[in-house]
Amino acid sequence: MSRIVIGNWKLHGSMAMLEEYFSLLSAAGVSGGNVWLGLPVPYISAARGFAEKLGVCIGAQDASRYSEGAYTGEISADMLRDVGAQFVIVGHSERRRVFGDVDDIVCEKYHRAILAGLIPVLCVGETLAERDAGYEYEVVGRQLMAAINYFSSEEGGFNAPCIIAYEPVWAIGTGRTALLEDVEAMHSFILDRLPGAKVLYGGSVKPDSVRSLFQIDSVAGVLVGGASLSASSFASICGMA
Ligand code: 13P
Repeated sequence: MSRIVIGNWKLHGSMAMLEEYFSLLSAAGVSGGNVWLGLPVPYISAARGFAEKLGVCIGAQDASRYSEGAYTGEISADMLRDVGAQFVIVGHSERRRVFGDVDDIVCEKYHRAILAGLIPVLCVGETLAERDAGYEYEVVGRQLMAAINYFSSEEGGFNAPCIIAYEPVWAIGTGRTALLEDVEAMHSFILDRLPGAKVLYGGSVKPDSVRSLFQIDSVAGVLVGGASLSASSFASICGMA
């Protein structure tokens, strides 16, 4: 089974890095449509040629909730599609926490992505305080149900290819990966609500932690932050997918 590996560069990178990165991926033999890279928007067009050669997918890390208009600084899902993006991450916890992307906004972004022909990757996950208080299922359930309810009356909503990334906030960038049994339990919880979804795990995924994650059947792939900035670490994760 080929699992999906999505790299999320976040606010990192440069043109120089992009070129070197793809040549290292190519040298490492990385290829295939299960390898996705979420790039900063200015690099999407530039990455297109490199990505096509390797057959990997490129996408963005966010899209506007609006389609067009007087919204200075915003970038629409249609524009992302226009410059070559194939997918977009929505509802990342950094967007929720730092930029105020509440559930309603995340749903609108998800909707815009589908209308634009992008595959949305919906991120869900609880904070450490929420887990410590025993609310992890309530929080993830709320984030999921907001999206499911929003789309239950919409054509093409969750019948569209549905990718959910479970990223416990306390595991992001901390070096702390969730316990395998917690990942398995949360993935089952998500799949009970969205049986057709592909559920990815994210949070301090590194080459040495990914092997055990990939032993869990319900882990359809991984969303990788820090380790995706190193072409060799990313290639080694892809090699195990
Ligand atoms: P890290 O892999 O750096 O923990 O980041 C995870 C993440 O937020 C991916 O979207």
